[in-house]
Amino acid sequence: MRRAQVRLTSEPVKMPAEWYFGKHVPDQVRVRIAPSPTGNLHLGTARTALYNYLYARRHHGTFVFRLEDTDEERSDETFTQDIIDGLTWLDIKWDEGPDIGGPFAPYRQTEKIDHYNNVANQLISRGLAYLCFCSPDELNEMREEQKEQGGLTRYDGRCRHISAEKRASHEEQERIPSIRFIVDEPRVISWHDAIKGEINIDSSDLGGDMVIVKSNGVAIYNFAVVVDDLDMKMTHVIRGEDHIHNTAKQLLLYEALGKTAPEFGHVALIFDHERRKLSKRHHGEAVHIDKYRRDGYMPEALVNYLAQMSWSPAEGKEIFTLAEGCEMFDLSRVSKSPAIFDIQKLHWFNGHYIRHLPLTLITERAKPFLASFDLSAYSHHEIEQIVACLRESLTVLSEITPASKFFFDKAIVIPQDLQDSLLSKQSSRSVLSKLLEKTKLMPFGDHAGCKAIVDSVGKELGVKGKDLYWPVRAALSGATQGPDLGSMISLLGEARVKSRVESALALCPQL
Ligand code: GLU
Repeated sequence: MRRAQVRLTSEPVKMPAEWYFGKHVPDQVRVRIAPSPTGNLHLGTARTALYNYLYARRHHGTFVFRLEDTDEERSDETFTQDIIDGLTWLDIKWDEGPDIGGPFAPYRQTEKIDHYNNVANQLISRGLAYLCFCSPDELNEMREEQKEQGGLTRYDGRCRHISAEKRASHEEQERIPSIRFIVDEPRVISWHDAIKGEINIDSSDLGGDMVIVKSNGVAIYNFAVVVDDLDMKMTHVIRGEDHIHNTAKQLLLYEALGKTAPEFGHVALIFDHERRKLSKRHHGEAVHIDKYRRDGYMPEALVNYLAQMSWSPAEGKEIFTLAEGCEMFDLSRVSKSPAIFDIQKLHWFNGHYIRHLPLTLITERAKPFLASFDLSAYSHHEIEQIVACLRESLTVLSEITPASKFFFDKAIVIPQDLQDSLLSKQSSRSVLSKLLEKTKLMPFGDHAGCKAIVDSVGKELGVKGKDLYWPVRAALSGATQGPDLGSMISLLGEARVKSRVESALALCPQL
């Protein structure tokens, strides 16, 4: 199989797309998600993880989870846990990891610090990297001068050919060097991207020779990622398009290490309706996967929404499970254009899953949102039935708290405007009186049977529609809208229905 290669040329070299994805998928696909634990699990990272997972499953390959945790200052264990929990909640399972018993832990770059140093030293010994003694102050000064001259800031390579005396003097001053990799200029780095197509990057735009190991001995992302992707035998790297320039740098490193690079596919970023990149800074918790768990979104809905956000299955299906996504996923059908985060669409998916997932599962998931109520007032079966009648109208499960409140209230408060507009009517009083008489006849537990009794009241009084149903709804729930009336009556049971209708009647003026 042909792989993306760095080519020393001033002219971009064209390569046929079919050398890459689609027709020539290697036997052993190995892909990964490699988040840095410097923030919570972001929607974009979750989508990237999902695409890698789907690709691995589609090709019977392996999906790896690696934490790029070398940034000691910004990495935090709470972020690590948040990322693990988020992926687990979405059911995006990884296939490997250090064996610590139980579920796999992610691989961690911090466990390989010495290894990266060894590889960097090999590059130095081959004249492809060098020690850089520049202090942060010197680098700042250099950048300021470049800015003043109106140019782009870049490392000017001053340590590349440092004299023996200068080096000795730096060492005498006990300056600790970083390691810089030589970026050859000018040249064009080209590859065929599985999503974006042909990409050409001018190496002169990469900022000059790049640090690969900081003076504290810790490898920089662009270097560690290459060493790891090689060590872990990654065949494909699917990640956000904000990494395109990093890919160019990384291709130079693959070349220097004498290795074949994996295939690359860069997924377009996610924007809001104002075409701003979805970010914590602008969108706060809305980019945090755990927010959706807390707010009562179904992981199945989020996975389905994220999957189809930038990929449309050839089959034209919109609603599909994770397992079905694994059967259909096709990188060549991933869009080149930015995705727009559309909360209404996510709600549409979520409502669908709330209505269609098994009732027992939805009831289990609804329980945290019912925790403020005395659930012992109803049997388990009745709680399930309450969830069943309410789920029809929910977009997120957290809405079940206000929607179900009337089932648990000791007494119903009927808002004054409803008392004035509805209960003041003669017909309302008649409906409620008649219903009270018939309470004894209600077949509680039989939703349709209860509704039939209400209808018989209407028939006898010659009242129908809003005039019939609204006073009953207002009496039982304090509102004129709500779930199916027969289910409400049937589940509330005789004692509640009787006392609520009596209380409402007491508010009806004697005419
Ligand atoms: N740590 C990088 C990130 O979180 C990983 C990018 C990559 O997949 O190589 O963006």
